[in-house]
Parts: sequence; C-alpha cells; structure tokens
Amino acid sequence: MYQIRIEFTFDSGHRLLDYNGKCAYPHGHTYRAEVFLESSSLNELGLVYDFTNLKDQIKNWVDENWDHSFLVNSRDTELIDGLGGASFVRLFKFEDENPSCEVMSRALYKKTSELCGIAPAKVRLWESVNQYAEYSGQD
Ligand SMILES: [Zn+2]
Repeated sequence: MYQIRIEFTFDSGHRLLDYNGKCAYPHGHTYRAEVFLESSSLNELGLVYDFTNLKDQIKNWVDENWDHSFLVNSRDTELIDGLGGASFVRLFKFEDENPSCEVMSRALYKKTSELCGIAPAKVRLWESVNQYAEYSGQD
C-alpha cells in the first residue's frame, strides 16, 4: 500500500456553542491540516495522486472558505448577528454543528473526496501543537 500526505496551515477563529469552558469564548487557532491518500497501485506516472494538484485543490478551498474566517455553528445567532455588523468579516457556517476540530476534520475529508474524486485514507487536523482530531470515513 502506498500512502502520500500533504500538509498546510491556516488561521481561523471559532467558538463552541453551549460549551462550558474557555472554548465558549471567541478565539482563534493556527490549524495544521494533514491529508493522507492511499492506493495499492500507481498511475501511469508512478503516482498515487499528483501532490501539486492535491494541494492546490484543497488548499485553495480552505484559503477561500476557512482561512482568516470565523467558523460558526449556524445556531450561534448571537455571534453571527454581532459579527454581521462589522466590515471585513468572513463567516463560514457549519449547519447545526459546532466548528470543533472533529467536525472540521470530517468536513475537510468530505471536501477532499468531492474535489479530488478520491476518498482520503484520513484527514488529521491539528488545533494546537499537542492536540488533533482525525476523520477516516469510518462511522
Ligand atoms: Zn478552539
């Protein structure tokens, strides 16, 4: 089995709705994403998938949607309304879910599948240097 991995970082703000603790406050992270692809065979170029194409597609989507954006639960109307009055604010809404590291890793997994036409082996998303969440498509 072959495995390839790309890695990139992005900066986002978020908070967890209904959370009892510090994560209830708006704050930000420099996230580090790792996307793993696996294949038992290689294409005619000897690749699992072209690194450049993979990174371009995923990183571009993240740059346009999550980087320097505020990630919110769609039910967090207090924060959405508050930020809505400010200029230069980008919001990305998660439908009825908190923008937790776990939810974000699943969203990135699904977006990779959609954009690249291949389901990743897994997506690992680091929220800080010592904690991450992974999603591998298994329920
Ligand atoms: Zn956080």
